[in-house]
Amino acid sequence: MNTSLIYLDYAATTPVDPQVAELMARHLTREGTFANPASRSHMAGWMAEQAVEGARRQVSDLIGADPREIVWTSGATEADNLALTGFMRANRARGRHLITSSIEHKAVLDTASMLEQEGFEVTRLAPPSDGGIDPEKLREALRPDTVLISLMAVNNELGSISDINALGRIAREHGAAFHVDAAQAAGKIELDMSEQPIDMLSLSGHKVYGPKGIGALYVRRGTRIEALIHGGGHERGMRSGTLATHQIVGMGQAFALAADSLDEDRQHVSALRQRFLAGLQECEGVHINGEGGTSVPNILNLGFDGVDGEALLMALRDVAVSTGSACNSASVDPSYVLTEIGLPRERALASLRFSFGRFTTAEEIDQAGQSLHQALVSLRQARQNRPSFDVPTEQAHARQQD
Ligand SMILES: *Cc1c(COP(=O)(O)O)cnc(C)c1O
Repeated sequence: MNTSLIYLDYAATTPVDPQVAELMARHLTREGTFANPASRSHMAGWMAEQAVEGARRQVSDLIGADPREIVWTSGATEADNLALTGFMRANRARGRHLITSSIEHKAVLDTASMLEQEGFEVTRLAPPSDGGIDPEKLREALRPDTVLISLMAVNNELGSISDINALGRIAREHGAAFHVDAAQAAGKIELDMSEQPIDMLSLSGHKVYGPKGIGALYVRRGTRIEALIHGGGHERGMRSGTLATHQIVGMGQAFALAADSLDEDRQHVSALRQRFLAGLQECEGVHINGEGGTSVPNILNLGFDGVDGEALLMALRDVAVSTGSACNSASVDPSYVLTEIGLPRERALASLRFSFGRFTTAEEIDQAGQSLHQALVSLRQARQNRPSFDVPTEQAHARQQD
C-alpha cells in the first residue's frame, strides 16, 4: 500500500494480521496442508480436516458456541442470505412475517426484499437518531405470524450498538427466532451464545484481521434452515462446497487473536478516538452522527457544516475513509443509514466515516486530524469567496467561526 496513505477504513475491511497470513500460506502449497478436508481416504485429507475443525473451535470459542453450530460460508453476506432465506423457507408453514430494521447491511435488506418477492412479508423498523434499535418498537411490530427477527449488533456506518439481549428476549417470548448480523461486533464486543438469546449469528473473516471471502453462520442446535447451495452435503447439509482450508484456518487464527486481544484492541482504539476528537476540537461545525447511545470506539461517523462531502473526500486524498458504506461509494445518493436516523440529505452528504484498528498509530491519527482541519478551512474559505446566493444559516455560522 502507498505508505503515505493513512488507512482509516477498518470498518470496510482490515489488513490480514501477519500471523494469519503466515498460517494461511502453510495451507496452500504441496509441502503444506492443501488436501481436500472432505477426503476421507488418506492422511492428507485427515490433516486438512483437522485444520478446519481446529478453526471451527477457534471461531466458536470467540462467541461461546459449540463448534458443531458453526457453518462456514463465503462471508457475512452469504451468512445473512442463508439465515434469512434458509430460515423463512424452512419455516413457511409456521408463518411468513419477518421483522428487520431499515439500517441493516444491504446483505440483509436486499435479501428481505427478495423474500417479499417470494411472498413473505417484511416489517422494517425505523431507528432512533442514535441508531440503536428500540426494543419497544420491536414489540409493537410483532404479529402472530412473525417467525424471524433479524437485527444487527453493531451498525457498520455509525458503530451504534443495539441492546441485542433485550431484543432477543422479546423474540424468545414471542416464539420467533432471532438472527444477528455480528460482522462488526465480533472481536469488538463480547458475544456469548451460551448466554444470549440468539439463534443465528453472521460472522465475517475480513473485518477481524482475517482474509476476505470467508465467514460463518452460527446456527443454534434445533434451528431449522434450508440450504441455499446444494451439492455434496458439506456442513451438515446446510452449505455444500469444498471447504476453503486456507481461508478457514485464516479466519480461525484471526478469531483466536481477537479473543486474546479484545480488551487491548478496545483500549487502543478508544485512545485513538479520543485523540482524534481532541485534535478536532478547534474545528467548528463538526458533529458526531448517531451520538447519544452506546457505540463501539473504532467507528466515528462525522458530519461537517459548510462543506460538500465529495469535495472533502477529494481534499483528504492522503486519508482513506468512507462516505457512508463502502458498498454505496459508487453512488452519489447519501447513505441510507444516515438519512434513516433523521439527518437531512445535505448533512448526510457532508459526512465521513473514520474507522480505526489494531495497526492504527497515534501519528496517523494526528496527521489525519491535521489534514482534515486544513481541508475544512480551505473548503469553507473557497465557499466564502464564491459569489454566494443561498447559504443556509447553519453553514454561514460555521463559516464565520473559521
Ligand atoms: C461487512 C459486513 C457484511 C458483509 O460481510 P462480507 O464478509 O464482506 O460478505 C455484512 N454485514 C455487516 C454489518 C458488515 O459490516
